[in-house]
Amino acid sequence: MRLVVALGGNALLKRGEPLAAEVQKRNMQAAAGPLARACAAFQTTIVHGNGPQVGLLALEAHAYKAAPPAPLDVLGAESQGMIGYVIAQELRNADPGREVVALLTQTVVDPDDPAFQRPSKPIGPVYPAAEAESLRARGWSLAPDGDGVRRTVPSPAPIDIVELAAIESLLAAGAVVVCAGGGGVPVRRLAGDRLEGLEAVIDKDLTAALLAARLGAERLVILTDVDGVYLDWGTDDARRLGEITAAELRGHAFAAGSMGPKAAAARLFVERTGKTASIGALTDAEAVIAGRAGTLVRP
Ligand code: ADP
Ligand code: MG
Repeated sequence: MRLVVALGGNALLKRGEPLAAEVQKRNMQAAAGPLARACAAFQTTIVHGNGPQVGLLALEAHAYKAAPPAPLDVLGAESQGMIGYVIAQELRNADPGREVVALLTQTVVDPDDPAFQRPSKPIGPVYPAAEAESLRARGWSLAPDGDGVRRTVPSPAPIDIVELAAIESLLAAGAVVVCAGGGGVPVRRLAGDRLEGLEAVIDKDLTAALLAARLGAERLVILTDVDGVYLDWGTDDARRLGEITAAELRGHAFAAGSMGPKAAAARLFVERTGKTASIGALTDAEAVIAGRAGTLVRP
């Protein structure tokens, strides 16, 4: 049986923690044991986020003045190596008998996707509002985040996974496949089946849903830092949904950039496949995968 797990950025970096290699390694070490146990019985694919990491790489690229900063597709590929390495090593340490492979993955998007005109995905750190003007001078789009601002980039919808056949082969060979990190490196198809990178960051939850449908997965599991989907989130009436149908979920609106894409991804997978999706806490990974914790989305 196949399982696709979307792993939130918080697995590597909790809110407010510095983006240090040591911090990410320690957080992944804590998550790896439960995750490896929960996935042991499945052909497992893990899709991770990259928001904070790709933002840091963009800052580093800006520090080097001898050349224009590397474009976002190149930075996305770098982030897959940096994060995939930590996940693959710690999962292997947690379950030494199991092959774990991190695969550089490209995701096809439509260059005419309206998202390219409306940068919406926050990446990198939160800056003081006073720095907004100098950041805009770099050509960055910014959006308010709490008291400060954050860089936002286009986030087009994933359409196809370039390395799908290779992922299938690795799964069939028994490997846990860490792939499509940060939603995959955004590319467009050119004539003659050639590819070209695009400046964007795809939502990892939406790519995980696409991948789960294409792989014929039994379940899509979205692991994050909250124990499920809440109605009236952020109010005194907030209550967690235990189980909901995809059609009912469609009737509710969720926060863009956080729970919104997770709810949309769960719905897409369930509507497309007739299977179930779960959204829950990484700390409850085993129970969420078994359908005993989190929010279960069913047909
Ligand atoms: P990840 O890194 O796992 O993708 P996100 O920050 O994108 O995490 O999304 C998880 C966050 O969504 C939670 O920490 C919570 O603050 C926020 N959130 C917004 N709306 C809701 C909701 N309706 N129910 C639960 N969490 C919500
Ligand atoms: Mg997210």
